[in-house]
Amino acid sequence: MPESSSRDQPGKPKRILTGDRPTGRLHLGHWVGSLQNRVRLQHEYETILIIADLHMLTTKKSRKDIREVLSNARGLVLDYLSAGIDHERATIYLQSAVPETFQLNTILQNFVTVNRLLRLPSLKQMAGAAEIEEESFPFGLLGYPVLQAADILLAKAQLVPVGRDNLAHVEITREIARHFNITYGEIFEEPEALLSDIPALVGTDNRGKMSKSARNAIFLSDDEKTVRAKVGSMFTDPKRIHPYIPGTVEGNPVFIYHEIFNDNRAEVKELEARYRAGKVGDREVKDRLADALERFLAPIRDRADFFSNKPGLVDEIIWSGTLKVRQIAAETMREVYHKMGFDRVWKEIEQKGEINM
Ligand code: ATP
Ligand code: MG
Repeated sequence: MPESSSRDQPGKPKRILTGDRPTGRLHLGHWVGSLQNRVRLQHEYETILIIADLHMLTTKKSRKDIREVLSNARGLVLDYLSAGIDHERATIYLQSAVPETFQLNTILQNFVTVNRLLRLPSLKQMAGAAEIEEESFPFGLLGYPVLQAADILLAKAQLVPVGRDNLAHVEITREIARHFNITYGEIFEEPEALLSDIPALVGTDNRGKMSKSARNAIFLSDDEKTVRAKVGSMFTDPKRIHPYIPGTVEGNPVFIYHEIFNDNRAEVKELEARYRAGKVGDREVKDRLADALERFLAPIRDRADFFSNKPGLVDEIIWSGTLKVRQIAAETMREVYHKMGFDRVWKEIEQKGEINM
């Protein structure tokens, strides 16, 4: 039995680890793809949210990027809290401030082959998105999934919520855990992926998924005027130059957003029917969408105001979470060094040193 199975005891909720790189604010795509799920899961599982600033270094590492970690981490946490993450339930921590992350990462690097990592399509996609040429592909980017394994195993998380494209990374973590256990004895539980198959939310420009760097995102922190302007300039059916031309609802981003965010189902059905029949202008469809988004964003904004008006609270949440994870991490590393036998090596040298002095 793995020593880490203590959380398998009846009544003890399983532990989840998930998070984001602090590269900017969260948008509706994040809500659809991950936030919504996390808000739900926090009631069922012990949730740890990682602000993965070390993972950011694989593609963003300038002095400016690092300076921005502070404001981005604060923004990220404000978005979590506004979206409904309960800081009394979930633990939020800053990856770079847990030194054991570096320690375990260095050890785990030896439990996966370069070939295995080179075969991951996700790393090439990340390099492509960050415009990194093959010859400048960083060693750290190759190690991205290993660092992820270090986060997951350090926290002894049993569940990792991911999209299908990230499934391979959890598989790497499982392989590393297995390989480590075979070599030194059971210590790590193989985490399971909690697969979500939600398709990516399309951007306002209909050019691929909503993404903060593509300037096609509606952010959770956008004010009403900004949201209305973004909705007003959204891509719709290009053949509708007049309201009386019948339009296509399927694959039309305005209607995709209506389907997801408009709580007035009857209105959505009615707008769809009129759109197909050429009996409604784009303007009206967009105005109703902006209204619906306002209803969706209003409680999020209220929570954002609440937390922004408590100076220091966000920092306190990050720091107390970091201290908590440091404790978990120190315990894990004590076990790791013990299983590997490093602690005995150190002891031996330390004691010999004392005798000889
Ligand atoms: P960047 O432009 O810097 O790549 P981004 O806006 O694409 O940023 P990421 O930080 O790359 O956001 O996304 C992190 C995670 O958020 C993704 O792995 C995915 O789970 C989720 N996510 C991001 N964008 C979307 C989207 N449009 N639809 C659904 N999920 C999304
Ligand atoms: Mg992205």
